[in-house]
Amino acid sequence: MIILETSIVEHCNINCAHCARFAPLVKEPYSFLRLADFEQDLIQLNKVLGDKLSLYRIMGGEPTLHGDFEDFIYIARKCLPKTKITFETNGTMTHLLDKVWQVCKDNNVAPVGNDYYLSTGLKNESKQFFYNKLDLDGNQDPIKQNRLCDNPLLRSSFQNGKIYPCSRPICISHFNNYFGTDLKVTEQDYYDIYQASANAEDILRFVRSPIPFCRYCKNHEQVLVPHSFSKCNIKEWT
Ligand code: SF4
Repeated sequence: MIILETSIVEHCNINCAHCARFAPLVKEPYSFLRLADFEQDLIQLNKVLGDKLSLYRIMGGEPTLHGDFEDFIYIARKCLPKTKITFETNGTMTHLLDKVWQVCKDNNVAPVGNDYYLSTGLKNESKQFFYNKLDLDGNQDPIKQNRLCDNPLLRSSFQNGKIYPCSRPICISHFNNYFGTDLKVTEQDYYDIYQASANAEDILRFVRSPIPFCRYCKNHEQVLVPHSFSKCNIKEWT
């Protein structure tokens, strides 16, 4: 069984420090996933994974910043009729919450709110989370780092027809662009679901195995951090 998530936008209206998707570093012009590409990819995903896909999560950044977010929910349900689907929001776009609730209800999709904000609308320092730092030089042992990592089991990523064990290689371009670094993503870091031999068994094996990009992770130096706002300082992530 596999859990996958897709970002329909990469930017966010909140500026959380240590954001695992580097959303505070995303620069304009923002990119918005195209509905037609999303639909085509999900049709292929369903063909290849079928009932091995136990949970599919629609994510951001903050997904309600996509003007077509309701259509993404509808299309996800249409293409993945048997899969449990969630729609994850920080809950701050309060003028949209009724709409989110209704479209999720109509399509049997579970809205999931981030309780850093839902209760207060403000930062919540009583909330803490673990963050795994980056090694900018990529000197870590990928096998050891992967063994210490829970991402592949909890949140493998699916973006533009490719499956990754986690979102880091997908989002790292924002980090590289912002800080002028060069953490590299190679063809060995993802599984292309359009390849002729694509099959569920290989995908399950792939997401549970180290990828070259794991050499940039310092999972042995996991830190517990209180929620705060980002100052876009490289130290937040390294
Ligand atoms: S790159 Fe590897 S070790 Fe790092 S978060 Fe992703 S799966 Fe885990």
